[in-house]
Amino acid sequence: MTPAIYLVKGRDKALRRKHPWVFSRGISKVEGEPELGQTVDVFAHDGKWLAKAAYSPHSQIRARVWSFEKQNIDKHFFVQRIRDAHLLRQDIIDRDGLTGYRLIAAESDGLPGITIDKYQNYLVCQLLSAGAEFHKKTLVEALLEAFPECHIYERSDVAVRKKEGLKEVTGVLHGEEPPKSVVIEENGVKISVDIVGGHKTGFYLDQRDSRQQAIKYVKNKEVLNCFSYTGGFGLYALKGEAKRVINADVSQPALDTAKYNAELNEFDISKKRAVFLNADVFKLLREYRDQGTKFDVVIMDPPKFVSSKNNLTSGANGYKDINMLAMQILKPGGTLLTYSCSGLMSSDLFQKVIADAAVDSGRQVKFIERFEQAADHPTDSAYPEGFYLKGFACKVL
Ligand code: SAH
Repeated sequence: MTPAIYLVKGRDKALRRKHPWVFSRGISKVEGEPELGQTVDVFAHDGKWLAKAAYSPHSQIRARVWSFEKQNIDKHFFVQRIRDAHLLRQDIIDRDGLTGYRLIAAESDGLPGITIDKYQNYLVCQLLSAGAEFHKKTLVEALLEAFPECHIYERSDVAVRKKEGLKEVTGVLHGEEPPKSVVIEENGVKISVDIVGGHKTGFYLDQRDSRQQAIKYVKNKEVLNCFSYTGGFGLYALKGEAKRVINADVSQPALDTAKYNAELNEFDISKKRAVFLNADVFKLLREYRDQGTKFDVVIMDPPKFVSSKNNLTSGANGYKDINMLAMQILKPGGTLLTYSCSGLMSSDLFQKVIADAAVDSGRQVKFIERFEQAADHPTDSAYPEGFYLKGFACKVL
C-alpha cells in the first residue's frame, strides 16, 4: 500500500489551489513509514484524496506534489511531463533560434526539485529534492525516451540539497562526459558553455530575453558590463555595435570564456573595443567613481544577494549600494540596466531600492522599461514563487 499523509484541518487550501508544497506543520499524521523521496498519497483531514507527492522527512517542505491526479509516478508520468514542457517551449526555441534552453523549470513544469537545461545534445540535470533523487533512474530513462540522442549529465552540486537530506553529486548519468566547451546559440549569438566546470548547469539562460532587450540601448555607447560571467550581456552589446565594452567579473575562467566567445562570434575586439577585467565590482565601481570615469550604459547583473527572509534587509542594502555607485558613474542621460535574481525580493521592493539608490546618488532616475526571466523560465499561476528574476532599464539624469 502507498504510504499516506493527512493534513491538519484547514491546511489543504494551498493544495486545492494546486500549489505543490506541503509544509511539515500542516501534517497531522503519517501512515506507512515512507522513506526519503518515496511517493505518498496526500489526504485532507476529512479523508478526501488530494494528490501524489514525494515525501521529504528532513525538509520543512515535507512533501512536494507530483500530481493532482490519481496516476502512477513512473516512467510514463515523467515522459509526459517532459514532452509537455518541451511543447510549451517549441515556439520560443524556434523564435529565438535556441540550441540551449531550460527544458524543465522544476515546480513551474510540474516536476518539483528538477531543473534540466539542454545544451545541444547534452541534458544537464540539477536535482534538488528527495523525490527527484528517488526517481533519478526513471527520470533518466524518461529523458532518453524523449531525447534518444542525448547525453545526460548531473550537476547537483548545490548546498540546498542538505535540507532534503541529500549529498552534493555530479557526474555522467548517460552517454559521454561533456567536453570543456559545448557551443550553443541564442538570438544568433554563439556561447561556449562549460557544463562540468561552469556556474550552475553552465550558463545563465534566464537572462537571454534581457540580453536581447539590452541591444537597443548600446549602439555607439561606452558600456560597463558588471558581473559579466562568460560575456552574456557584453556579447550582445558587441552585436549591438557598442563603441566599447568593459566586462568585469572575479572569475578568471569565466572571463577567458567571455573573450573566447567574442572571438567565436567574430566580433571586432581590436583596439580594446572589448576588455575583460578581473575585478571585484564593488571596488571597481568605487575606483571609477573616485577617478571620475563615466559610462553611457552600466549593466548590473549581480549574483543573488537575498538567500532567505532573514537577510532580506542586508540583501536590499547590497542592491542599493551597487546601484547607487552605478548611477554615480553614469553620464547625464545614461542608461542603467539593472537586475535582481533574488526571488524573495519583489519587483515592487526592487523598484523602491532603485529609488533609494537614486536619492543617495543625488541623481534623478526614470524607469523606462521592465524585464523578467526568459520565456523558457515560465511561472505557473499556482506557483508564484517561480517568478524570481526582474530588472529595469532606467534613464539616469
Ligand atoms: N550577467 C551574466 C550572469 C552573471 S552571474 C550573464 O548574462 O551570463 C554573476 C557573476 O558575478 C558570476 O560570474 C560571478 O563570478 C560574479 N561575481 C560574484 N561576485 C563578484 C564580485 N564581487 N565582483 C565581480 N564579479 C562577481
